[in-house]
Amino acid sequence: MPIYEYQCDECGLRDEKLWPKISTAKDTIECSSCGAQMRKIISPANFSFPHTPVGGARPQNTGVHAIDYSFDKVIGEDSARKWKDIESRNAVKDATIREERKAGRLVKREHLVPKLDGSGEYRVITEPERKHANEGRTTAFEIAKAAKGSGDKKDG
Ligand SMILES: [Zn+2]
Repeated sequence: MPIYEYQCDECGLRDEKLWPKISTAKDTIECSSCGAQMRKIISPANFSFPHTPVGGARPQNTGVHAIDYSFDKVIGEDSARKWKDIESRNAVKDATIREERKAGRLVKREHLVPKLDGSGEYRVITEPERKHANEGRTTAFEIAKAAKGSGDKKDG
C-alpha cells in the first residue's frame, strides 16, 4: 500500500497517509493541525520505503527528490525547512520555465536569476549578463594566478 507524505502550505506540518491503492491517493488532504490544504510531496515510486532512508547515509543532492524527504527526517527540522525553501524556489523557477517555453524559449533552471525587486520571482539571465558572469570568473581566476605569479618572482 502506498504511503504518501504531505506538507501543509500554511503551518508546515508534515504527515503521512496510507492509501489502499496509488489511484486512490489524493494530491491534497486537509491539515489535521490548521485545516488548510496539505500537498503531496513524495512520489509513488517511493512507497516501498516510506519510513527509513535506504542504503544508509547519502550525500545531499542539490535537486529535490523524494528520497531527500525521507533523508531529512533523519537530519531534522532545519533541513526540512531548507528543503521546503528549495522546493518552493524550484516551483517558482519551474513556473517561469514553463512560461518561457510557452513563448518558445528553451530555458533551464541555471538560466534563471532572482529578480532584485524582492518579489521572490525569477527572470532569465540575459546574454550580456551571462557573458559578464563568465568574464567575472575568468578575471577572478586570472587575478589569483597573477598574484601567485608575482609573489613567486618578487625579486625579479
Ligand atoms: Zn496546517
